[in-house]
Amino acid sequence: MAVMRGRQFFQNPGPTNIPDRVLRAMDRPAMDFMSEDFRAIAGECAEGLRRVFKTENPILIYAASGHGAWEAALVNLFSPGDKVLVLESGYFSLNWGRIAGALGLVVETLPGDWRAGVDPAAVEARLKEDRAHEIRAVLLVHNETSTGVANRCAEVRRAIDRAGHPALYLSDVISSLGCFDFRMDEWQLDVVVGGSQKGLMLPVGMSFTAVSAKALKASETARLPRIYWDWRRFLTGRDQTSFSGTAPVHMFFGLQEALRMIEEEGLDQVHARHHRLAEAVRRSVRVWRQNNGPEIFASDPRVESDSVTAVLVPEGHDAEVVRKICLERFNVSLGGGLDRLGGRVFRIGHMGDLNEPMILGALAAVEMTLGLAGVPHGKGGVDAAMTHLAAS
Ligand code: PLP
Repeated sequence: MAVMRGRQFFQNPGPTNIPDRVLRAMDRPAMDFMSEDFRAIAGECAEGLRRVFKTENPILIYAASGHGAWEAALVNLFSPGDKVLVLESGYFSLNWGRIAGALGLVVETLPGDWRAGVDPAAVEARLKEDRAHEIRAVLLVHNETSTGVANRCAEVRRAIDRAGHPALYLSDVISSLGCFDFRMDEWQLDVVVGGSQKGLMLPVGMSFTAVSAKALKASETARLPRIYWDWRRFLTGRDQTSFSGTAPVHMFFGLQEALRMIEEEGLDQVHARHHRLAEAVRRSVRVWRQNNGPEIFASDPRVESDSVTAVLVPEGHDAEVVRKICLERFNVSLGGGLDRLGGRVFRIGHMGDLNEPMILGALAAVEMTLGLAGVPHGKGGVDAAMTHLAAS
């Protein structure tokens, strides 16, 4: 491979670009995690996170990737044989369900169309059928990173309420938090699982679980084994800065800086920026769609994700070839297709620390790549993105 100069344009849907400010904040010596200084940092992080999650609930922080917080939510809430309803929307929703099954839960999957996302009416219908209230919890992935579909989290809440069902409502916000609208308390989520390496602009290795009073109550009688993940280890400590083991102090240094950056910009502005950049990507893809070219995988504009766009290549073409050329010729890194979407989609991540020229550069590289890969497409996608960005 030729020597590459300049920065790599990193358009993966996680991990995402880590701002220099966050890297610099982490470039410092270790600190005693029991010290007052560290407790002040951890306290600031807990407060800042609560504002991003839009919750008054406690948020527990793990030294683990998102998978850890996924598992933590399950082992703290349930006992063997408890039934959960997984709302299928793509690879990540099914994977959370697989973990639940492996832990000994009874997993029912509500089938869903990967392109349209979860249908709240189907959730309501299924919960109404469950008159005995055997379903203990509903599991939703807010933003399906594998498909670029943003599930309608607030509408699913209303569906649960219309069904009059007491199930706990769990949501994975790993790739929506800090990217687009999410409101834990207003939407009455019981457990919310977040991760560090997407909208929060941090390295991989930290994850979060926000827990409602109803979830804490349920956890009192849960009988799955839990040690490292046990919420009680955090909540019965001196305060919320107590940790399961040694606190990952450098991740906290980075988190403190990332949260300060989000507050400086303002969460609403962060969301607006994501929307503007996402819309630029979508306008490009709509132009490429001409001549039977690639299309946005999400089939319904209501669910197009502001953090990642999955692009479906035309039949007979391989999305992995597009990804490879884009990386090797232009040093632009894209996400690939997961599971059944392998070779069918490439994914343009547009979350985290990103601005207009970065997204335009990436789109230009993709448009050039489509030509080099022999994928039919309409010309002028980048122009459409520029027109949008200049006007918005
Ligand atoms: N959930 C979603 C929506 C994700 O996008 C990911 C990872 O990309 C995960 C869960 C798994 O998180 P992690 O890879 O941090 O374990």
